[in-house]
Amino acid sequence: MTKGRLFTVSGPAGVGKGTIVKMAIEKDPTLFLSVSCTTREIRADEVAGVTYHYISDEEFDRMVSEDAFFEWANVHGRRYGTPRPPVDEAVAAGRNAILEIDVQGSAQIVLKQPETIRIFILPPDWESLYQRIVDRGRDSMEDIKKRMRNALGEVKESLNCDYVLTNYTREETRDNFLRILGGEDAKEFSIEAQRENILNLINTYHEPE
Ligand code: 5GP
Repeated sequence: MTKGRLFTVSGPAGVGKGTIVKMAIEKDPTLFLSVSCTTREIRADEVAGVTYHYISDEEFDRMVSEDAFFEWANVHGRRYGTPRPPVDEAVAAGRNAILEIDVQGSAQIVLKQPETIRIFILPPDWESLYQRIVDRGRDSMEDIKKRMRNALGEVKESLNCDYVLTNYTREETRDNFLRILGGEDAKEFSIEAQRENILNLINTYHEPE
């Protein structure tokens, strides 16, 4: 059987990557979505075992020492890791696998599996990202500022990805995402074609008031 391919999806918090991935899986249920482990607390709208596996620091340490993670990283002060066996099983069974992880994690995955395709989701502009974070209502103003600064750092890292999608509307982004996963022609979203857009976004960054 032909093996599935591995895709990482990254983007700043609030850009809508979770929604895009969910909508893509609704259209193509053969896609496999990896469920990460995290040491952060569960949020009100999340489901244990579906959104994440919520584990203790001790459990996380044990999994690191047993080499059970494909990759892991510290994000915003908490640890997140991708359990390896479920991804290997899905790919061996011919399914395309999606890892929704940060850019540090996707860099580690590429070292282990160089054929991995790295996709990055950009906001159309900084105001819309700011507004989405505010609308989620989860964060204090201090946290929002921290997230926006982190977002700038992440957007700079997008220059190392293979494809970049700007999330103007979620339906359009989902369809373009599925084109990339399906191996269809998606040159317009390649890093070469998108470099100028990314640099423009970086150059227009400003701190929220
Ligand atoms: P949140 O806590 O808001 O769900 O996620 C925070 C960040 O952690 C997001 O950028 C998300 O992509 C990233 N993340 C989630 N799971 C993993 C993982 O298994 N590995 C890595 N490296 N990052 C992850």
